[in-house]
Amino acid sequence: MKDLVIDLEAEKAEILKRYRALLRASKSTLQKGDKKMIRKAFEMAVESHKDMRRKSGEPYIYHPIAVAQIAAEEIGLGTTSIVCALLHDVVEDTYVTLEDIEREFGKKVAKIIDGLTKISGVFDTNSSLQAENFRKMLLTLADDVRVILIKLADRLHNMRTMEFMPRDKQLKLSSETVYLYAPLAHRLGLYAIKSELEDLSMKYMERETYQFIKKKLNEKKAERERFIHDFIEPVKAALTSQGLHADIFGRPKSIHSIWNKMKKKAIPFEEVYDLFAIRIILDSTPENEKSDCWKAYSIVTDSYRPNPDRLRDWVSSPKANGYESLHTTVMGPRGQWVEVQIRTKRMNEIAEKGFAAHWKYKESSSDSGLDQWIHKVRELLRNPDSNALDFLDDFKMNLFSDEIFIFTPKGALIQLPSNATALDFAFEIHSDVGASCIGAKVNHKLVPLNYNLQNGDQVEIITSSKQSPKEDWLNFVVTAKAKAKIKSSLKEEKRKIAEDGKEILERKLKSLKITYNSDNIQKLTLFFKLPSSQDLFYRVAKGQIDLQDLKEFHTAERTVENKPQDKIDQEQVQNLMRSVKAKDSDILLIGEDMQKIDYKLATCCNPIPGDDVFGFITVSDGIKIHRTNCPNAAKLMANYGYRIVKARWTTQHELAFLTGLRITGIDDVGLINKLTTVISNDFKVNMRSITVDSDNGIFEGTIMMYVNDTEHLDNLIKRLKQVKGVTGVNRFDSAPAPIEKAS
Ligand code: MN
Repeated sequence: MKDLVIDLEAEKAEILKRYRALLRASKSTLQKGDKKMIRKAFEMAVESHKDMRRKSGEPYIYHPIAVAQIAAEEIGLGTTSIVCALLHDVVEDTYVTLEDIEREFGKKVAKIIDGLTKISGVFDTNSSLQAENFRKMLLTLADDVRVILIKLADRLHNMRTMEFMPRDKQLKLSSETVYLYAPLAHRLGLYAIKSELEDLSMKYMERETYQFIKKKLNEKKAERERFIHDFIEPVKAALTSQGLHADIFGRPKSIHSIWNKMKKKAIPFEEVYDLFAIRIILDSTPENEKSDCWKAYSIVTDSYRPNPDRLRDWVSSPKANGYESLHTTVMGPRGQWVEVQIRTKRMNEIAEKGFAAHWKYKESSSDSGLDQWIHKVRELLRNPDSNALDFLDDFKMNLFSDEIFIFTPKGALIQLPSNATALDFAFEIHSDVGASCIGAKVNHKLVPLNYNLQNGDQVEIITSSKQSPKEDWLNFVVTAKAKAKIKSSLKEEKRKIAEDGKEILERKLKSLKITYNSDNIQKLTLFFKLPSSQDLFYRVAKGQIDLQDLKEFHTAERTVENKPQDKIDQEQVQNLMRSVKAKDSDILLIGEDMQKIDYKLATCCNPIPGDDVFGFITVSDGIKIHRTNCPNAAKLMANYGYRIVKARWTTQHELAFLTGLRITGIDDVGLINKLTTVISNDFKVNMRSITVDSDNGIFEGTIMMYVNDTEHLDNLIKRLKQVKGVTGVNRFDSAPAPIEKAS
């Protein structure tokens, strides 16, 4: 940085230029006096950030201006939000206080800035309770959704300008982004931002795959554009002749969604057919919107044959996040399925900008699905004692899922996630109905509680006063609401039983002449390796701990270590952390200190040298090395950032690492023999196991073997592909191992 020559005059001019661009972007929402407010916020931000620079060397003020620009242009927010976006980092990073903000800009702005400052530490590396903090973040959402919208703009700009960050920071920000921010953007209906966040995360987390797909997309660009042109031509002509005005164009799918499809269907890039969708955006009037969309649908399907299974009507029943559109898939001129999305300009604005656009049109849709959703978030957050991590998991699932529509016996419409069961429906009606539910009638037929509801089902719930929530209900309900209610009711039940157990234990200890005091209860809890004294009482009440066990405790009592378990755990984590950090660098070098530092290669992703990796400190099992694209990585990084250690491979060739290949081909006499010859003779690789499936002449085998590094593996894959009859050789993304536990 010291050699950098900075032209301050030029910078000043650039800052002003960016500020004017921001004003242009917010023009449509500006009212009298707004410009003055924005100017004041801009000046305060410039002044308070004046000595700060970003990692790239640029003046810091570029960042808040850019965040404000995203808020105005891409989310469609108004003056208050623009002011808040400009000031979003001042209270946290400069001498400006919240009181200053309130004095200058009023209560509303101060409140939003306060929310933004509070959640800025959500993913601090030092914070061990990211999940709890995320919950706090959602609380502010229930307060004023603009806090989250500005936070999303902030995150988007940071992701867009991440190339100057150190690699570990990039990985951490990327995992949080796919884990939480992208689903949030999705739920708020910000499709464009959601896709960009996912693509940017993938760019850093799966560098090679990202570049590969990007290159492939570019290679076929001209061909694709010609196809789109030919496809659109007749539709355009027909729309015009029927008096409909429309914009019609091809929209490429995001790299991340293409990659998802490849993984989900296990197909190569070449077999992903829907690399783009055709979008028809109609000029319409409020009273003609619906009929115009269907008119356009009829025109499209006059030219191309539709797939009847792929019609989606979100015009009649919009999604919970406000999305409205008519989707169909038709057979294109070259025998290829093409998705067509039909919507009006208003619907399109809501689809792109989500929530804020919704407000703009609010007068026409005051009872929107989104309002209902925010109402639901509020309701959920009111439940104070659900475990923060569980809550996060349940909540996240609800963020992602698509919804179905279910009718009550009286014909009212209830929205549920697409995999919801009859019991979820019962809890959605009322928590008491859920708690006493014994069965349901779906379309007048009796079904069990775990029945999977289908779109359009009519459901009647059967209850009994004798019923109470059961532990196994948690295995099939999916809504966060039902889960939270069941958990809290089970907890209450357990608490009652534990109270009885406490009395029983008191009597039993008395008969053994052991004093009943908190110290002894603590020791007993530890002795039976239970998480809390409540669990101890509960087990006593359930008869799972008897007098004999207590006697054993009596004799062994002196040997029990007098330290609570979680304290020991934390110390262990910290000691390990220190032993790693005490090295010359804070990067864990894998391969050389194999003996000195206790680490293992995670079985969920089987890393081998050459893979991008990181270390994760576990309590009982030392340091685990994971691939950065391990299916568990995002969750670990997002929730336990403080336990992540940077890690890198050192060059060495004497060690061998377990990895797996999946080989497909045409079954031919001697194919296995040919494969194993290449593996063990030509490449001198040790195999641990081979499983082969042969079905109607199609061969599918998995081979687990020990290789040195990715280069070694890549060469082997190349050679195996050359074997006659082999059609595909792929490294497993992960072995079918159980999900890694965080402890
Ligand atoms: Mn910021």
